Amino acid sequence: MPAQHLLTNEIRVPDRMKAWVLGGPDEIFLVDKPVPQPAAAEVLVRIDAVAICATDLEILRHGVPAMVEGGLPFHKNFTIGHEYMGTVVKLGPAVDEFGIGDRVTVEVHAGCGRCERCRQGMYTSCLNYGDVAKGHRANGFTTDGGFAEYAVNHVNTLVHVPDDMTDEEATLVVTAGTSMYGLDVLGGLIAGEGVVVTGPGPIGLLGVAVAKALGADPVILTGTRDTRLALGRKLGADHVINARRENPVAAVKRITGGRGVHFVVECPRRGSERHAPGDGPDEAEAVRRPADPHSHLSSRAAADRPQIRARANRRRDQGRGQAGAVMRPRAHPR
Ligand SMILES: [Zn+2]
Ligand SMILES: [Zn+2]
Repeated sequence: MPAQHLLTNEIRVPDRMKAWVLGGPDEIFLVDKPVPQPAAAEVLVRIDAVAICATDLEILRHGVPAMVEGGLPFHKNFTIGHEYMGTVVKLGPAVDEFGIGDRVTVEVHAGCGRCERCRQGMYTSCLNYGDVAKGHRANGFTTDGGFAEYAVNHVNTLVHVPDDMTDEEATLVVTAGTSMYGLDVLGGLIAGEGVVVTGPGPIGLLGVAVAKALGADPVILTGTRDTRLALGRKLGADHVINARRENPVAAVKRITGGRGVHFVVECPRRGSERHAPGDGPDEAEAVRRPADPHSHLSSRAAADRPQIRARANRRRDQGRGQAGAVMRPRAHPR
């Protein structure tokens, strides 16, 4: 609810809430739990929408990649869910970055802020991963997540949601951010540069939307499912190629007048990196412009356990895109 619709800056928060918690493998129960309290640099979020990620299903079945108190998350009254949004309803001490009533969406990780990785800004690879006492949180993975009425979030994991964005759309911010981060660490897309996205899963589709929003031209999506390719069209793909019907390398060369594109974003389904022509690294090399040796990144989406491999062979901006760097940022922890 937008702040202007509130009559006061107070929202009544109950002491107890409903929350889903893990039992054993493939067991999840709706229970009554205390509403958590925000500490310094934290707020309490009333959850208004939550997406179900394939990683949630993986945690439900296998426990990993969630890890609670140093072990599997089963039978620990643990609440999963990491793709959620909501309304700030309570502020921890000294919090002024957000106000009561703000619509916010969340990212998973709050690093400890004190280890070498966090100090380099690589907080998703925090060396104190899972150590709550040190300040690390990964809601839905090591600390309680969004399959509940309320959750506590560090202010660094929150972003404001514009009024014209729906609650449901706002739950996908991390998925979109994963694609955006990949393009950013390669040195940044310049409007008018071409992008090929292989694989129309959630990361690939949002890769299309992000590339288009950044001004990429053309944005070409390859895949094998027509329904997904049609969704890609809606999200901004200028061209879609069904790799079962057309050789994607030849198609990209045809579309670009033989020039190829500047960036290739690989988003194959887990275990099917080579499920179709055009989805492998060799094909990605083949459609990339020879003049742009920096421009190859992979999001092995792995059922939304994205792991972007960015090979930046050329430095475009000072301090970004180290020559020959291989980066493996993770939207979700492993
Ligand atoms: Zn997810
Ligand atoms: Zn850290």
